[in-house]
Amino acid sequence: MTQNLPINPLLLKKYNQPVPRYTSYPTVPFWQNDIDIQKWEIKFTEQFTLQNAVNGISIYVHLPFCESLCTYCGCNKKITQNHSVEEEYLQAIEKEWKLYRKRMGQTPVIREIHLGGGTPTFFSPLHLRHLINVLIKNSIVHPYHEFSIEGHPNNTTKQHLDTLVSLGFRRISYGVQDLDPQVQHIINRVQPFENVKQATENARTAGFTSVNFDLIYGLPLQTIQSIENTINQVILLKPDRIAFYSYAHVPWASRGQRLFNESDLPAAGEKIQLYLKGKELLSASGYYDIGMDHFALPHNELYIAK
Ligand code: SF4
Repeated sequence: MTQNLPINPLLLKKYNQPVPRYTSYPTVPFWQNDIDIQKWEIKFTEQFTLQNAVNGISIYVHLPFCESLCTYCGCNKKITQNHSVEEEYLQAIEKEWKLYRKRMGQTPVIREIHLGGGTPTFFSPLHLRHLINVLIKNSIVHPYHEFSIEGHPNNTTKQHLDTLVSLGFRRISYGVQDLDPQVQHIINRVQPFENVKQATENARTAGFTSVNFDLIYGLPLQTIQSIENTINQVILLKPDRIAFYSYAHVPWASRGQRLFNESDLPAAGEKIQLYLKGKELLSASGYYDIGMDHFALPHNELYIAK
């Protein structure tokens, strides 16, 4: 029988807060709109020149479309089944890239590209190829470049993977979140273990050398038993890295989160036990707790860097 670990209730109360995601820095609430464009342009050119000379630049491209809404989602996304938006969106990115190029004043050395979303694999392989070609045209691709993408296990095809590998991508992150059928149903993200397994194997066969899984604890209907089952299934697929992060319930900001009943969410005391159970199982299977919700196998750069 699973025993709960003792937790200091005061600490739990203090830190059980829906805080902004750290995936952008500064975090979104600290962004400012009243910027002086000219000052920004000067700053951009300065920073670009500095970074370009030292280590090359990193580019993040946000591809915001998804075919269906996962109800827990707090990302900046647009739900549509209309794939004609792909072309128009890429044209807008190309236009924006040209604006940056004008301000750069020298040939960019591209060290990293990350495609995030939304669902980047909403875009066809042909369109993703076009996007990367736009970015690398008349640029220098750094010899140690790292290109990575976020993939949805349900729509990442072999064609996507082969195309991306041929463009230099070697890292993929799949949004797994949870493998329990009831949890998947309530969050409106039904992707059985077999789909995740297939997508993982396909990525490795295509030539991806690093596979990450995103997992969430604190979702509606999750229990210690369901987390245990999810983590045990994940361990079978041996992703190199795992981001096991806390669900932030902010229904005033993410309307989709109003679609499930708050009484189905684990309470603070239960939620921390879900995390501790996951951490215990991952640690026992050779994953190291890197910090900031991340776990990695010892051969992975995150662990080596730590
Ligand atoms: S979780 Fe990902 S796939 Fe689901 S709606 Fe949000 S951005 Fe789209």
